Amino acid sequence: MINRQMQELGSKRSTIRELFEYGNQRAAVVGRENVFDFSIGNPSIPAPDAVRQAIVEEAAGDPVALHGYTSAQGAAGVRAALAADLSRRFGTDYTGDSLYLTAGAAAALSCAFRAVLCPGDEVVIFAPYFPEYRMFIESGAGAKCVVVPPSVADFQINFDALEQCLNEKTKAVVINSPNNPSGAVYAEQTIRRLAEMLTEKERAYGHPIYLISDEPYREIVYDGTQVPFIPHYYADTVVCYSYSKSLSLPGERIGYVLVPPQAADSSDLYAAVCGAGRALGYVCAPSLFQRVAARCAGMTGDISAYQANRDLLYQGLTAMGYRCIKPAGAFYLFPQTLEPDDRAFCERAKKYDLLVVPGSDFGAPGHMRISYCVREDTIRRALPLFEKLAQEYFA
Ligand code: PLP
Repeated sequence: MINRQMQELGSKRSTIRELFEYGNQRAAVVGRENVFDFSIGNPSIPAPDAVRQAIVEEAAGDPVALHGYTSAQGAAGVRAALAADLSRRFGTDYTGDSLYLTAGAAAALSCAFRAVLCPGDEVVIFAPYFPEYRMFIESGAGAKCVVVPPSVADFQINFDALEQCLNEKTKAVVINSPNNPSGAVYAEQTIRRLAEMLTEKERAYGHPIYLISDEPYREIVYDGTQVPFIPHYYADTVVCYSYSKSLSLPGERIGYVLVPPQAADSSDLYAAVCGAGRALGYVCAPSLFQRVAARCAGMTGDISAYQANRDLLYQGLTAMGYRCIKPAGAFYLFPQTLEPDDRAFCERAKKYDLLVVPGSDFGAPGHMRISYCVREDTIRRALPLFEKLAQEYFA
């Protein structure tokens, strides 16, 4: 008998994937340029030139070494280079021994959850959240997600609601700032308060509560916004990072787990991360892109294109009466839908070939996610359609 739970996961596409496929079908009928697909978070700016150069130069090297397995945790030289980059930018003293290279943030999160969680444990996540957390935590690690409701005025943390979600079974809390889907960046004040509350609860419950910081958008911020480096505020942090967004390399699958030496039981935890990677059959992260990451860590593509898209979309939509926070980072806008039923609203948007994702998928009904990692021209031509859609409600 096959595993029915896995069969179900594999048979049901996520709403985002459904929309993406629907967009392809519509494109065949009305033409690609007439489908306004804001569904998926695929970076729309090219990788930095340095990435291309690194690929060419590395590919010209010894092919046997280049394409061989690396150490399970990543090549030692690569990990040392990434640790040096973190030290340079954040004043840390990590070595490569704190880093475990992975196939992107998805694999990093899966390893971190598997390393920390046992069946029956609880993990607190904040709505709106990246939907795959449920998959990794519940179906992957056999633990339970406890969701803190969204703080819709600013998408910072509702601390009263958080406190009600914490108990002796809480093993981990997940944050994602800059956030997918809201674009919010947690203020330093928010992180300080979170660190205080978790420290107090660790004492009360007598065990560590790991703060798993999912940071694929760390460098994608606008208007000089600062993203606090979480391990500076809370020792029991595990960072899950990816080069998918910062270097526009989502298909190449490269990222890491950072287990800072200050975290509780850090050597055992690091070993557990390696063990989780082994149990999941990850073997090692892609070897060519380990080297590329080592050479390009800390860089980004030209994110001013995302900022221009954000401004155009935010100004356009708010002028029409849509209500929305101004995102400080990532490449998503998360406006309120013009009727409480977000699924009905997003269905109606399809009439105009506007493909946007219902907030319910992220645990925040009454919203829609618009991925603005698209060509500027797509936004310009979509705005009149958003206006027509709004007129259906405001008329
Ligand atoms: N976490 C968040 C918040 C994301 O938005 C994504 C991808 O969109 C991931 C993790 C997974 O990223 P990766 O492509 O590195 O696996």
